[in-house]
Amino acid sequence: MTEHAAAQRRLEGTPASPGIIIGKAHLVGKARIKILYQYLVDEQQLNREVERFQEALRTEEDKLLTVKSQLPNRVKEHAFILDSHLMILKDSMLVDATIKRIMDEKINAEWALKESLDEIREVFEQIDDEYIRSRITDVENVIERILRSLSGKTGQDLIEIKERMIIVAHDLSPVDTAELNISKIMGFITDIGGRTSHTAIMAQALEIPAVVGLESATELVQDGDLLIVDGNTGEVVINPDDSAIIFFQKKQLQREKYKSAIASVSHLPAETLDGHKVAVRANIEFQEELEAAKSYGAEGIGLYRTEFLYMRSKRFPSEEELFENYRDVAETINPAPVTIRTLDLGGDKLISELYIAKEVNPALGLRAIRFSLKEPKVFRTQLRAILRASAYGRVQIMFPMISGLEEVLEAKEILENVKDELDNQGVDYDHDIKTGIIIEIPSAVAVADILAHHVDFFSMGTNDLIQYALAVDRINEHVAYMYQPLHPAILKMIQQVVIAGKQAGIPVAVCGEMAGDPLCVSMLLGLGIGELSMTTRAIPVIKKLIRSISLKEAHEDFHNMAGLSTAREMRAYILDRMKKLLPELDEKGYLNT
Ligand code: PEP
Ligand code: MG
Repeated sequence: MTEHAAAQRRLEGTPASPGIIIGKAHLVGKARIKILYQYLVDEQQLNREVERFQEALRTEEDKLLTVKSQLPNRVKEHAFILDSHLMILKDSMLVDATIKRIMDEKINAEWALKESLDEIREVFEQIDDEYIRSRITDVENVIERILRSLSGKTGQDLIEIKERMIIVAHDLSPVDTAELNISKIMGFITDIGGRTSHTAIMAQALEIPAVVGLESATELVQDGDLLIVDGNTGEVVINPDDSAIIFFQKKQLQREKYKSAIASVSHLPAETLDGHKVAVRANIEFQEELEAAKSYGAEGIGLYRTEFLYMRSKRFPSEEELFENYRDVAETINPAPVTIRTLDLGGDKLISELYIAKEVNPALGLRAIRFSLKEPKVFRTQLRAILRASAYGRVQIMFPMISGLEEVLEAKEILENVKDELDNQGVDYDHDIKTGIIIEIPSAVAVADILAHHVDFFSMGTNDLIQYALAVDRINEHVAYMYQPLHPAILKMIQQVVIAGKQAGIPVAVCGEMAGDPLCVSMLLGLGIGELSMTTRAIPVIKKLIRSISLKEAHEDFHNMAGLSTAREMRAYILDRMKKLLPELDEKGYLNT
């Protein structure tokens, strides 16, 4: 490093899209939504103010439609992100409410829009589902664009970059990301954002390395600074010294080798060294993820989270819409199976206008099967669609958030009733369709032996099970340190369910994040889990891991871990074991490739 070079500085953020890049920083607009000022509008000018607002909406709609039509083919499947922004542009809570504010309060469009955003934020804050709650960023992105349009600014600075650079921004919307001139952009880092944001989804689709949630990147990075961005670990180095550059260049090379090595084996069966086969399946939220799931080597879909289709609509989708979606999924993945989970809606007025849930304790409220049983019409429509789709592939039905036998019996009674209806109408469906439940509430674990006689399979929803068993809100960062999959209580609970499943002769799968966590896989296999369903990107490495252990070793891991008393001991034991098998695991258990 030369004497005059700026000091090296390291930042840590959330890895959003994998890949290591070394390049110069290009800072784009720091402010996200610069508000603004409120002023009163003359009575006679109010209609003009509304027109100004509507004109901004039209301008943004035109721009979005242009971006959508120019998306490169390989990311066309992600056009739904732009569709969701187009939908937000037409949402009544945004449009009608803002117009009403302009007229009633006699204020300028910008301020009325800001007030609408405040109200929408309040609604989102009530939502317990982290993914859906994080979708507020989509609304903010759209509002930022409208504000830009109202102020006459174009936001072209992103597209006019001449050199290949790394974008540094407070936030990037998915649309900004789609607009990036791909050949000129190496990657990006942002102050805010999360792993499940649409921006991250888009970056992954475009294969642009990205780190988000760095908090102060736009303050610490100067235009033209040299940056290293590691999209696998979330590390960012500002003005790296020579040794850091050499270190990351080596890592880059290793990663290329690793990617090609792992891609060449992701289609091999997930079979242990002693010949035990494990079903490795994908969790999907959208039909569009199917191709990626297949190319990553998924042997079917172990969890189709159907609520996202409802959330995209402004109403309950019709039976026909649902049927077509489920049929396409069943046909595309056939002969592998798809497990369709019935609605796990927690309530979200803004996106869907379906149902309002202002509950004090939404995680313990009217959610999932509770909602379906309370709204049998909605439930029956979904069941009819799933059953009809079952004639086109291997479809299974799964009920979420089951707390006891009554719910299973009630849900099954409705299902039988719907089957009779289809029989009477001469509509085809799979008469042997399997029906299972997610075990994600501790009471269901306690009565798993009873439930096992009434269903065809169990799938462990460990995301919620950990939350409810350890009394740790799964989205609260203050207690995140207590959210421990490798907790003795969780091990015992899964074991109890596996035993109940075995005694009744039904399979037990895992579809929570534990299934795709390299630190949990050996224990789960040793426990007797036969199917792991996970986020698509985890599939290749989990398959690699399964192929490098024997079932005998997995049993030993499970027994050794079952003999430990604390989460810390369990984690230390398995991290040590897995690092020998997967040298790419770092001290945090992240894949550092
Ligand atoms: C779970 O709870 O583990 C699960 C798979 O469902 P979700 O993450 O959708 O709640
Ligand atoms: Mg769940």
